[in-house]
Amino acid sequence: MNSILDKEITYVSGVGPRKAASLKAELGIRTYMDMLTHIPHRYIDKSKIFSINEILEKDDLVFVQIQAKVLGFNTVGSGFKQRLSVEVADTTGFATMFWFSRANWAMKSLEVGKIYRFFGKPSFYNSQLQIVHPEFEIAGVSVDEATKSVEGVYGSTEKLNSEGLGSKAQWKIVRAIWSEAKDSIKENLPPYLIEHMRLMGRKDAFFQVHFPQSAHLLKAALFRLKFEELLALQINMIQNRRKRLSGSLGYKFDKVGDAFNRFYKEKLPFPLTGAQKRVIKEIRADMGSGHQMNRLLQGDVGSGKTIVALMSALIAIDNGYQAAIMAPTEILAQQHYASIGELCSGLGVRVRLLTGTTKQKDRKVILEELSRGTVELLIGTHTLIEEPVQFIKLGFVVIDEQHRFGVQQRAKLWNKSITPPHVLVMTATPIPRTLAMTIYGDLDVSKIDELPPGRKVIQTLSITESLRLRLVGFLKEEIKKGRQIYVVFPLISESEKMDYANLEQGAELLRYHFPAPEYSTVVVHGKMKPQEKEYGMRLFTGGQVDILISTTVIEVGVNVPNASVMVIESAEKFGLSQLHQLRGRVGRGAEQSYCVLVTADDLSKDSKRRIEAMCKTSDGFELAEMDMEIRGIGDLEGTRQSGQAMDLKMTNLSRDAEILEKATEQAEIILNNDPKLEHPQNQMLRDLIDESKRVKASVNFSKIS
Ligand code: ADP
Ligand code: MG
Repeated sequence: MNSILDKEITYVSGVGPRKAASLKAELGIRTYMDMLTHIPHRYIDKSKIFSINEILEKDDLVFVQIQAKVLGFNTVGSGFKQRLSVEVADTTGFATMFWFSRANWAMKSLEVGKIYRFFGKPSFYNSQLQIVHPEFEIAGVSVDEATKSVEGVYGSTEKLNSEGLGSKAQWKIVRAIWSEAKDSIKENLPPYLIEHMRLMGRKDAFFQVHFPQSAHLLKAALFRLKFEELLALQINMIQNRRKRLSGSLGYKFDKVGDAFNRFYKEKLPFPLTGAQKRVIKEIRADMGSGHQMNRLLQGDVGSGKTIVALMSALIAIDNGYQAAIMAPTEILAQQHYASIGELCSGLGVRVRLLTGTTKQKDRKVILEELSRGTVELLIGTHTLIEEPVQFIKLGFVVIDEQHRFGVQQRAKLWNKSITPPHVLVMTATPIPRTLAMTIYGDLDVSKIDELPPGRKVIQTLSITESLRLRLVGFLKEEIKKGRQIYVVFPLISESEKMDYANLEQGAELLRYHFPAPEYSTVVVHGKMKPQEKEYGMRLFTGGQVDILISTTVIEVGVNVPNASVMVIESAEKFGLSQLHQLRGRVGRGAEQSYCVLVTADDLSKDSKRRIEAMCKTSDGFELAEMDMEIRGIGDLEGTRQSGQAMDLKMTNLSRDAEILEKATEQAEIILNNDPKLEHPQNQMLRDLIDESKRVKASVNFSKIS
């Protein structure tokens, strides 16, 4: 394509090579079109200026703008750790602006006695208004505001700000590009679709998102551009999925064999729940269909996913193939190996463990056995797929506790044999609908929506500091009964920014209350060396230690049935799904278990609702729904990064669920009528999809943490 839109932004007047390089490095913007699709990530209504007094009376404002005079500065600390508070006032009251970083820059930019507009998220301390890291500009002199009330804020970074490439400067670049290139912006959706969906034209849409003329037009413009982006994505996703389901590339496991039957009759330690039975049936049908299975198994913590994985693996083994089960951590892999090894004993199934710490000598033997086919079930960490592990006939792979294991990683497995193995991804994290529809749009989904019978409900309660000593007394009683305890902290060490409990001080206090040698404690956190972490965890899983003091490193999957209490310090710091994951570490044995949420005295409204939700229910799906309610539809962990990973430039998956749904619906209708987009009226769509494939060659999963 030889369009002016492909021109590099170096050529925009006032940009030049140095600034162009920064924009490319920081935001990935190289061409005119890149700049145009870098649309504001939010818009502010600059027509409204609040008085300080007015803000204090409301507690539901997300962003506010005040116009206030700078009274004075106050700095604490120096150098990197310097923080700055700026006292300001308008005619109705006082407020404080804070900077924890770039204090120097803020101090240089503001002048005592002058009036500025400050814009940001309000917070309150001792009934005083505070804004942390507000945006600001001198009042009354800004250029373009006079005529428009809605203004875009362009995503920027500290580096860009310091080089004079902040939101305002970016807008000026866009303005220059617009006047040069606007006539090259061509329509790319077919007329029938534009009419049917009542879409704004493409050129108008770009104009409105950068230079909104009214809130109404802006909304229509955003819809148009996001719809276009999501339509291309979903047409692609649906085509891939249909290809997989109609293709014949997949092992056909239709034999019901010895291993599975004998396991079911002789070894199964408990009756399966209805949900487990249903899911195994779904998996069995998939694996017998002749198409490759690509299935996501969602099931709350403790719902019994492991046994489903094992029985599915036995189906593969009965049909003469090898199976692999991969866990996210070494500890989990070892636990799976121990429990599965025992469950399989006497069945004649050869199980091996392969992880990063397997000794070189053993590794060689295992690799050899794998390539000869004498190992039938391999258990290991996710790194298994990175290694030069060659199976002779890998037919089935389980990826445990990792819904973020993406398309590309799954693709790696395929290279391990000519026909792709069946894949089962298991997770306890309820997945937001938008994610399920996009990034996992090529997966089928099964759910275990029932816990094994006889589980004692974990008692959850929240306390504040004033009950600390009672908590200590309670923990001592549990230890006396032979139980073990988790204590989790949000931070490792003291932080200037956040007033939360930290592990270092907390561990000291715990050792004071639970002195050795009468009590034993061990510390595990993310900054320790892997071997040290392993060692600490092993002491705890082995029952040699009473209290495990840790950060959230123990979040996923660990199974210590003897642990009966989970104490979470500064619980208000954690999100609901994380709290639920942590709580799931207890309640795995026969004893009554407890989860104690220690919080500050005064909590924000949202924190209070989260803590109350935890105390009220232990159902993960119910909590996920409450989470959505509290945070707003779809605004859940993972959605944002996933959007970036899929290279969605204009859509925010956590906010644009509705547009996604409409785009998906249209994509399906279009493909139902014209599966290969061969009809002339869909030629434009084919071009659009080719273009989007050209731009995003691959999904970047490293962006998802
Ligand atoms: P998760 O889904 O969190 O991976 P696990 O597979 O670790 O759960 O199972 C949790 C515990 O429940 C294990 O100790 C397991 O033996 C037990 N369990 C699983 N299924 C059943 C069942 N149908 N009846 C009773 N206990 C079960
Ligand atoms: Mg598990």
